[in-house]
Amino acid sequence: MDIMAHSLWSLVLLPGPPSIAKVVFGIAPDVTVFATSLIVQAVKGKMQPGFKTRLEMMEWYNKPENRWVINLYKWTHSLLVWGIILLPLFIYYHFYLNLTPWFLLAAPLHILMDIPTHNNNSFPVQFLTPLSTYKVNGMHWSKPLVFIGNYVLIILAIFFRLFVLRK
Ligand SMILES: [Zn+2]
Repeated sequence: MDIMAHSLWSLVLLPGPPSIAKVVFGIAPDVTVFATSLIVQAVKGKMQPGFKTRLEMMEWYNKPENRWVINLYKWTHSLLVWGIILLPLFIYYHFYLNLTPWFLLAAPLHILMDIPTHNNNSFPVQFLTPLSTYKVNGMHWSKPLVFIGNYVLIILAIFFRLFVLRK
């Protein structure tokens, strides 16, 4: 799913007022991978090529020198990895600060939304890394029906939150 949709879903689904923290954690699984990739390319003195098709993009990521991006993506899209990172933070906020850090859940929410909206051809979500290579061959988020349907649902959810729940 695109970064904009992830940001909006984090803001609309998680309790509490809108915050930068919700957006940061909501896009973290993608940004950590693709920002690192851009930096690595820059350090190598190269520009990330522009891709005309998703197939072209995956061919580039599947080259031996770029395959680490796909591997890193598996780790940043693992519910187990995020569980290990977030659990101590959650405990700290909850028991020492007496706050419920809803924003932390934006990262696992990102992964749950990516699982059915990625397919085997384009960054399938191996959400049990490193214990299992299981992945779902879903409907890709860039397909018009999924893309438009997703934004329609986002708009409905925003509407529902603002005017029905009134918060
Ligand atoms: Zn993602």
